[in-house]
Amino acid sequence: MRTDVGELEDRRVPCRMRGCRRTWTWRVGEQIRAHKAGQTEAPSRMCDACHAIYQSLEDREEPCSTKGCEGKWIWKRGAQLEASLKGTFEKPPKRVCPACEEKLRTTADVEKPCRIRGCKSTWTLTAVMQLKGVKEGMCPGCRGRFDKAVDLTQPCRVSGCTGTWVWNRWSQVEQAAKQGVEPGQEAKPPERLCDGCNERTKTFADQTLPCRVRGCERTWTWTKQMQVRAWAEAGGGANAEPLVAPDRMCDECNRTFGGLDDREVPCKIKGCRRTWKYSRQAQLERVTSGDAERAPARMCGECQDLLSKLEPIEQPCMNEGCGRPWLATPEQQLAAIREAQERGREPQLPQRQCGWCEEFLRTHEPIDLPCAVCGTAVHWPSHAQLRVELGTWRKPTHCSSCLAASVGT
Ligand SMILES: [Zn+2]
Ligand SMILES: [Zn+2]
Ligand SMILES: [Zn+2]
Ligand SMILES: [Zn+2]
Ligand SMILES: [Zn+2]
Ligand SMILES: [Zn+2]
Ligand SMILES: [Zn+2]
Ligand SMILES: [Zn+2]
Repeated sequence: MRTDVGELEDRRVPCRMRGCRRTWTWRVGEQIRAHKAGQTEAPSRMCDACHAIYQSLEDREEPCSTKGCEGKWIWKRGAQLEASLKGTFEKPPKRVCPACEEKLRTTADVEKPCRIRGCKSTWTLTAVMQLKGVKEGMCPGCRGRFDKAVDLTQPCRVSGCTGTWVWNRWSQVEQAAKQGVEPGQEAKPPERLCDGCNERTKTFADQTLPCRVRGCERTWTWTKQMQVRAWAEAGGGANAEPLVAPDRMCDECNRTFGGLDDREVPCKIKGCRRTWKYSRQAQLERVTSGDAERAPARMCGECQDLLSKLEPIEQPCMNEGCGRPWLATPEQQLAAIREAQERGREPQLPQRQCGWCEEFLRTHEPIDLPCAVCGTAVHWPSHAQLRVELGTWRKPTHCSSCLAASVGT
């Protein structure tokens, strides 16, 4: 295309520097020369002001942005001019030195395990990160959760305590990983003590206490945690009363106790059909003291009541010719009453000899007497001696053969 030179005039052309709004003037003479050379477009050129600044600048060495690297990179004049137009001349850009650049080009990205405990995912440690000395990081899932999370106030895990604790973002991410929570779902908060309870636990120490079961020599441990709970349940507070240890069974008694049931055991009184309650507690004490599992002999409640109303009563000696009394105990009477009820008849006390007769028998050994005729020993047992004493029998004088002979004549 031909341009008529007569149409030309000075033109204002925008400065080529990015960020500069000024112009420079493309003179007619220059335009004609350009057109003759076949160039109709205005050349790319700086405005006078930019040019003046450019002339005053020099390429500058700037420190490498890699931490610990002593290397330098060159900040070119043109880039400095551009920065001054943007108003960032005072803050040179962060850039790495050529050596670091080379390192970046030749360093490969590495897959690293997520730093969140319990998370099995990985994240990419890029060359840039490696250059910056980054070693640990979160997988994208954990990172996303972490960035969205806010610290949460949680209630103290001690029931009865109104204190709270702060569940921080880090721990929230950890819990989510531990619980295998899907993205978008919330993790369940862990059970934790508030600061107050935490402080308080430091003043408690585990205590070893005796088992409350009679006869058991084992112990149980009143842990710090149990004490904190007891303290909080009692209202907590720094000036709370000193705690009183509860009466507890040792683990083994507890286990045994768990396997026991209250049992109904027959009354020990013969003829009584009622039972008494053998409690788990009583059974446990018996087992613990090394006794067999057999229930002890005991009366039912009714028999005990009746027994308390009975007095010892005198009964005649069963031995003929004695007439001395013996004392029937309330138990003997009770047994007689129950047996009579069982058989539907009148109560009958047993036949017994008196204390005097018993004493006689104990103090009189069987002896041998000589036969009045032949001198043979005649056996005289204790009970026969008692009969003689009571006047119902006679003392033997002859042996059986001499006695037979005397009867025969
Ligand atoms: Zn300019
Ligand atoms: Zn460097
Ligand atoms: Zn993770
Ligand atoms: Zn608390
Ligand atoms: Zn025990
Ligand atoms: Zn009974
Ligand atoms: Zn008697
Ligand atoms: Zn004889």
